[in-house]
Amino acid sequence: MCLALLPAYPECLQLFCILKVICMRPDTFYRRGFTLLEIMIVVTVIAVLASIMIPNYTRSRADAQLSACKSNLKNIATSLEVYAAEHKGHYPVELTVLTVDRDQNGYMYIAAIPTCPACSKNDQYISSYTYGTEPDWYALCCCGTNHGSCELDPNYPMVNASQGLLDGLGSNTVDQNFQPNI
Ligand SMILES: [Zn+2]
Repeated sequence: MCLALLPAYPECLQLFCILKVICMRPDTFYRRGFTLLEIMIVVTVIAVLASIMIPNYTRSRADAQLSACKSNLKNIATSLEVYAAEHKGHYPVELTVLTVDRDQNGYMYIAAIPTCPACSKNDQYISSYTYGTEPDWYALCCCGTNHGSCELDPNYPMVNASQGLLDGLGSNTVDQNFQPNI
């Protein structure tokens, strides 16, 4: 219908004819595909962007996992201190004691023992838990090299009764008297 109206508007008809000639030419911008040079430039730009973004993403992910792991250890340590306060300073024989509903009223020291997001083992913290008496102490850690990409030594982060949370960096290392079960 639009084409039928074109003869009534000479300027439009002229423009239409010009566009038609341009579009019919095989070497016009509208007809040809991308040249090899253009494709190579686009691929190079994508490769450069990927090389910048992927390491940043990987590092950010590792940092987030380490933060979550430290938070897990702090939560467990807090629960252990509450338990010890209610048991004459003694720590539990194993971590799973913290999750027992003692009075059937839903009172637990911690709802569940968390897992490290950088580790596939569910009992990561449970298996490393060590405790002692006279004096009372405990230690647990994130076993293995789960946080090696954050430049932490194996079996860190770690927490124990006397030193708190340790990341193994600098002087923030474990006292051998409070070594977890690793
Ligand atoms: Zn961890």
